Amino acid sequence: MQRRELIDWLICPDPGPLLAAADRRRRELHGDAVELRAIVELSSHCRCDCLYCGLRRSRRGFRRFRLGPEQALATVREAARGAGTVVLQAGEDLRLDEARVSALCAGVRAAGDSALTLSLGERPRASWARWRAAGADRYLLKLETASPRLYARLRPGHALADRLGALETLRELGYQVGTGNLVGLPGQGAEELADDLLLLQRLDPEMIAIGPFLPHPSTPLAGAPAPRLLDLTLRCLALARLLLPRAHLPATTALGALLRGGRELGLAAGANVLMEDVTPLAFRRRYELYPGRALVEEPLALRRPRLDARLRELGRRLASGRGDALPRALHPPASGGPA
Ligand code: SAH
Ligand code: SF4
Repeated sequence: MQRRELIDWLICPDPGPLLAAADRRRRELHGDAVELRAIVELSSHCRCDCLYCGLRRSRRGFRRFRLGPEQALATVREAARGAGTVVLQAGEDLRLDEARVSALCAGVRAAGDSALTLSLGERPRASWARWRAAGADRYLLKLETASPRLYARLRPGHALADRLGALETLRELGYQVGTGNLVGLPGQGAEELADDLLLLQRLDPEMIAIGPFLPHPSTPLAGAPAPRLLDLTLRCLALARLLLPRAHLPATTALGALLRGGRELGLAAGANVLMEDVTPLAFRRRYELYPGRALVEEPLALRRPRLDARLRELGRRLASGRGDALPRALHPPASGGPA
């Protein structure tokens, strides 16, 4: 698809054919099984100052946390028991150092067959290499926006080129790479979103996280969510599915925070992955990237049957296994739009 066609799909009155085509493509390649990822939030400390994020360094007056080694390990074990993939996420917190993360990687390996994804921001290549050697399979680092101008404004002191370099490094180290963008950022219209999608297509990552931007009241971008946010996010998801059929595409937690039932809409628009948070509730409340997250307390093993039942009502089911990437050689990025 050319840029013009992407823009047309983002603004046309009826996205129905687009969403249906993405749903068909998802079924052809990934089937009806939905991959489950259990996410553990290790620390809400962050050295970055991203304007959009509730954990940004400049935000004062709230208590941050960092899970202690024992607590982190216990939570990681629960995650590994309940899902085929464990995701360890945190702010860019250097006190969550190389050795500590390595120990957790080893903990996941020892806990069973789950795959391990890290999402700890930009860290030195040597740390990434050590974590890879310790058993990390995947790394999630979103480009957030493909506009160098917008990126520099939203992530002060950082440049899009560095993020692209970081993604390259991760790939060189043998990680399955996840990246993605935010939808509904101030200063972002259909043209910018089309550029996000084209850049994602060029990068051809194994996983693409596309989420709505939900303004946090204690950040400089406080205010109402963008108009048509749900609609735009679903269109972006669907276009990503058509452009990059083999990619794993989560119906993000932020989509669920935007609207009850939002994740189900994502699953019907090309998504094939769900993320479930297993961070102990007292800490999860304080990991506030954006407002409005559902705070389910149940252990993941108990949540699974309920999730599976809900998915079956939609003609889907929970997958078993790690949910690794589909091979690139068999499924190159696509050029066509909805058939
Ligand atoms: N610090 C790491 C991981 C935690 S942030 C990193 O930045 O990569 C994980 C993701 O949360 C970011 O990539 C960003 O896309 C998302 N995020 C941050 N603030 C958000 C907001 N207000 N609304 C929606 N998503 C947000
Ligand atoms: Fe830190 Fe990530 Fe939030 Fe940026 S998005 S402030 S890097 S936690």
